[in-house]
Amino acid sequence: MQTAYLNGTLLPLAEARVPAMDRGFLFGDGAYEVIPVYSRRPFRLSEHLRRLRHTLAGIRLENPHDDAEWTRLIDEIIARNEGEDQSVYLQITRGADTKRNHAFPAVVTPTVFIMSEPLVTPPPAQRDTGIAAVSAPDVRWLRCDLKTTSLLANCLLRQLAADAGCVETILFRDGFLTEGAASNIFVVKNGALLAPPKNHLMLPGITYDVVLELAASHGLKCEVRDVLEEEVRAADELWMTSSTKEVLPITVLDGQAIGAGKPGPVFRDMYAWYQNFKQKVMRGGG
Ligand code: PMP
Repeated sequence: MQTAYLNGTLLPLAEARVPAMDRGFLFGDGAYEVIPVYSRRPFRLSEHLRRLRHTLAGIRLENPHDDAEWTRLIDEIIARNEGEDQSVYLQITRGADTKRNHAFPAVVTPTVFIMSEPLVTPPPAQRDTGIAAVSAPDVRWLRCDLKTTSLLANCLLRQLAADAGCVETILFRDGFLTEGAASNIFVVKNGALLAPPKNHLMLPGITYDVVLELAASHGLKCEVRDVLEEEVRAADELWMTSSTKEVLPITVLDGQAIGAGKPGPVFRDMYAWYQNFKQKVMRGGG
């Protein structure tokens, strides 16, 4: 049985209920985070909580808890759920109002929800052969740096991949790479890593930061700059990164092979560095 947290109460997930007038339900008016947990320790928790503060400030919703309280609540959920490796989901909405009104309620009582699911990392076969992706114009709003629960555009875009039997949809805006429907995207060209800069057009991924840090510490040449759509299609290697997918090679885009059409040597290095880093950090308790 999964145990969830809802507004101060721990309860079976299947029994968690929110009012139909909650603004999360009516407007998608909320913020969220997904935190991977390895060996019952949340990975990069302070970075996730910092991004949560950025999202909450961006949508003008007061943070209901300080970091110490979030940490306590997340530890409690991890302890009460099964599995050494978990995926903790937390969400804060602007709560319920008495009538449907776009402007905020005069008094906001946020809805705070936390649950945990088993962490499902990609099957080894996906790492060995790579995954296929499609591309689409990035039709989202201009605050993609905020991790809000208004995810309809991301859902529609990800469904394009699902419809085509693919794993991810790579997004382009005005001829430039932004990110994936639910991941960040990296290009490898001539042995160097290329990634778009963090700005309002993409989510600042926690995994994106880890990958750039690992590249720097292992002396892999890295360029963070605007990446043209043509550079993505002509890449030697293409990767997607996210907290649950970690680093995955994309070997086919819109039916065309990327590079040699199989996971490349730079991916294999990064994958090994990522796994080592995870082990080290988790053993060290960080
Ligand atoms: N971009 C989008 C749109 C996402 O939804 C996600 C997370 N699923 C990411 C990037 C990757 O972020 P993180 O590495 O923090 O999981």
